[in-house]
Amino acid sequence: METLEKARQIAFSEGLRYVYIGNLSGHEAENIYCPKCKKVLIRRHGYAILENLIGKDGRCPHDRTKIPGIWN
Ligand SMILES: [Zn+2]
Repeated sequence: METLEKARQIAFSEGLRYVYIGNLSGHEAENIYCPKCKKVLIRRHGYAILENLIGKDGRCPHDRTKIPGIWN
């Protein structure tokens, strides 16, 4: 787990905005975070989506950052 977390931090420091860790059930890196305000936008557990705060306009509800994807 430590190695995966370190790799995730390296990816962020190199400019990637969405980096996940899989196969670690319940880990915070399963979630999708806003790259600007860092708040959770989609809370996941494995393949299940527990909460989705991204609006149909594809934006973070906190600061209106556009999140790439199809949201409607
Ligand atoms: Zn945001």
